[in-house]
Amino acid sequence: MRAVDLIVKKRNGGELSASEIQFLIGGYTAGSIPDYQISALLMAIYFSGLNFEETAALTWAMLGSGRTLDLSGIGGPFIDKHSTGGVGDKISLLLAPIVAACGVKVPMLCGRGLGHTGGTIDKLESIPGYRTALEEREIRAILNDCGFVFMGQTESIAPADRLLYALRDVTGTVESIPLITASILSKKAAEGSDGFVFDVKAGSGAFMKSEKTAKELARSLVKTARVLGKRAAAVITAMDEPLGRFVGNLVEVRETVSALRGDVSADVAEVTCRLGARMLGLAGKAGSLDEGAAACRSVLESGAAYRLFLKNVAAQGGDPRYLEEPARLKPAPCRVDVVAETDGWVAGVDAFKIGTAAVLLGAGRATKESPLSPRAGIELVKKRGDAVAPGTILCRLFFEEGVDAGEAESLARAAYGFSEAPPARGRLILYEMEAS
Ligand code: URA
Repeated sequence: MRAVDLIVKKRNGGELSASEIQFLIGGYTAGSIPDYQISALLMAIYFSGLNFEETAALTWAMLGSGRTLDLSGIGGPFIDKHSTGGVGDKISLLLAPIVAACGVKVPMLCGRGLGHTGGTIDKLESIPGYRTALEEREIRAILNDCGFVFMGQTESIAPADRLLYALRDVTGTVESIPLITASILSKKAAEGSDGFVFDVKAGSGAFMKSEKTAKELARSLVKTARVLGKRAAAVITAMDEPLGRFVGNLVEVRETVSALRGDVSADVAEVTCRLGARMLGLAGKAGSLDEGAAACRSVLESGAAYRLFLKNVAAQGGDPRYLEEPARLKPAPCRVDVVAETDGWVAGVDAFKIGTAAVLLGAGRATKESPLSPRAGIELVKKRGDAVAPGTILCRLFFEEGVDAGEAESLARAAYGFSEAPPARGRLILYEMEAS
């Protein structure tokens, strides 16, 4: 078999067999097939697609590139959620301790930022000392003690996705339903959960721009999860505007800490509790969505989830003092305020433009090797529905010395749309797909 022949086959719209897919993924993970051939393959898949059988074969091949975590001996149930990627999407940081505080174990294998979207690992690593590259014995111990663990992909857990994810990020091949499906499920299956809730984002800041394509992705995820023998549910949530008030890494951790201490934005609370309710439902811990959401709110309000978060930060090597005194988590020192020039209301804040502006400020990567600035980010001082007048601060950009913030500033300004009357309130939960 030669990689080039398989690339041509896919480029011409042909169907790859399971053994051909295995050859490509195995070869890439072992280092015998180079980045440039896999980049071409990814682009061919992007344009020609994969059918359901090929998607399942890709998922199995990626899963088989590493090991599955052994969670035996730790009392379950084990349920995880995965977001398809958004802007200001700090939901995982809140949801894991909330669901764990409700008695469900959450072994969460997370990713880094991708394209204009943020990544949970990048956010957590902005806490001084926090480690997500964990040995299996550490994963088991932390999961047992805290009820949840945030882990990154390693040489042994889903290595193929770690490599492909970084390559897709810089080759324009992220927005592909089969590639996203295989990426998410190969990681999720490797962590050993019994079931998953997928938060499929739809809107300008999502990889799926329309509700229609988000539904296709949700169906692909739920159907492929079943092939892997897992329970699954999907919630399609709006990603036209960033979630919460901050976009970046450290700034989102700071926002999470405030949220877990009771100061939570309405949009973050709604999405978190809905996903949490679905997770509790899959685990058999809630009889209805309302009951599940109430349980999530209760552990958020009582501080139980916050205490578990602190415990987890200490267990994963982070310094909890940074969370207890959030003023220690200082954003980057350079600052530009973007101000309104008109009277009226904010009609919307485009999530894609804000996500791209945050990447330009250093909160994301331009190439797969580029470092990022944990302290760079954006504060959305005003969001949809807020009244403004000339001079009102719309958002604040934070960046390190030496960064030219000009392009990010223009994008952030362009992200704001205005109306003369207050806009109607948008829906956050767009569609839900039951597990079966
Ligand atoms: N999240 C993932 O884990 N993989 C993707 O491909 C996109 C979002």
